Amino acid sequence: MAAKYPLQWIELSRSALNCNVDSLVRLARGRQIAICVKANAYGHGLPQIVEMLSQRSDIHYLSVHSVAEAIACRKAGWNARLLLLGPVATEDIETIVECGFEPTISDAAFLERLGRAADKAKKRILTHLKLETGTNRQGITESELPRFAEIYRKHQHLGKPYGASTHFANIEDTTNHQYAEHQLRQFGKLVKAMKRLKIGPRICHTASSAALILFEKTGFDLVRPGLAAYGHWPSKETYLSYRLSGGANDLFRPVLSWKSRLTQVKKLQPGEFVGYGCTYRTTAPARLGVVPVGYYDGYDRALSNCAHMLVNGARAEVRGRVCMNLTMIDISNVRAARPGHVVTLIGSDHSETVSAEQIAIWSSTINYEVLARLSSETPRIMVE
Ligand SMILES: *Cc1c(COP(=O)(O)O)cnc(C)c1O
Repeated sequence: MAAKYPLQWIELSRSALNCNVDSLVRLARGRQIAICVKANAYGHGLPQIVEMLSQRSDIHYLSVHSVAEAIACRKAGWNARLLLLGPVATEDIETIVECGFEPTISDAAFLERLGRAADKAKKRILTHLKLETGTNRQGITESELPRFAEIYRKHQHLGKPYGASTHFANIEDTTNHQYAEHQLRQFGKLVKAMKRLKIGPRICHTASSAALILFEKTGFDLVRPGLAAYGHWPSKETYLSYRLSGGANDLFRPVLSWKSRLTQVKKLQPGEFVGYGCTYRTTAPARLGVVPVGYYDGYDRALSNCAHMLVNGARAEVRGRVCMNLTMIDISNVRAARPGHVVTLIGSDHSETVSAEQIAIWSSTINYEVLARLSSETPRIMVE
């Protein structure tokens, strides 16, 4: 077995990431861009992705969920702006002020504390007000806005809100975009209300990947794509809507491949059971390969007895249940397979591909979750 690689690893394609970001820059038509690197850069590995994104001069922001992720971005070499999308613990308020992170505001008590901390540090802090347009997750309603306006007036170093934002509820779930249109109208109404209260924002932003790809008018001043930067479509519906509108099929290429190596090859007789629960039984002589990856690593247990991996360019079915750290595959038809041979869990091998989307279908979830769940402990290797 080659000593160069660990037993499993994730490969990240530099050229694919750059190609995807080029596509997003084109779609953004001169607007500012905030690439979303939350959830360990959608499972790709935050340090590696941020290091690659830092080499570009056309990305204005990174957006993250948490303060810890924002700090990780700085450590990985990101010196430009950081938008925090998620809630912030009271204990992290001073860090935000000190580091100049730009929080999303949806809570008045938090804004008040932030205002006091900013005044105390005599440091201007840029905030983004999240407006409630129909997702009912984080937003501020029209009747709550005066209270926020009062807090902004009270704290000199808050100034006015820098941004106003919202997030669409179902833009990637359907080819019918009435609800998104409704949310856009609500957004317009609330921004007007902000202006009347003299807390009009400098910039507006609403667009995740699907909105950016499909709706020019969601773009405003800044766009916040995540998944597409990693080379994945937010959904089949998004892909179909885009293609039906005449869009080309070369926008995105997957950045990530997930690989391992066969650690054992076994010969089984007909009638033998495989794995926990004896859920698979051979009906003929079989060759079985053991792959040192399990649900701990992010290979979902729902893939038991159904998914395929790739060995020497051929498909090998998962046999029995996925274990915590091991999975067995049928390599009866991959004659040349030996211990040490590379197994592809996500990605391509010769002309065969197992996509994150296919894994998502097999495990009844979405590509976002398949990727985000990949263990941060798996080594990441940059290719190209
Ligand atoms: C995650 C997230 C995004 C990015 O969404 P994608 O569908 O991955 O492009 C944008 N905005 C907010 C508020 C988010 O939470």
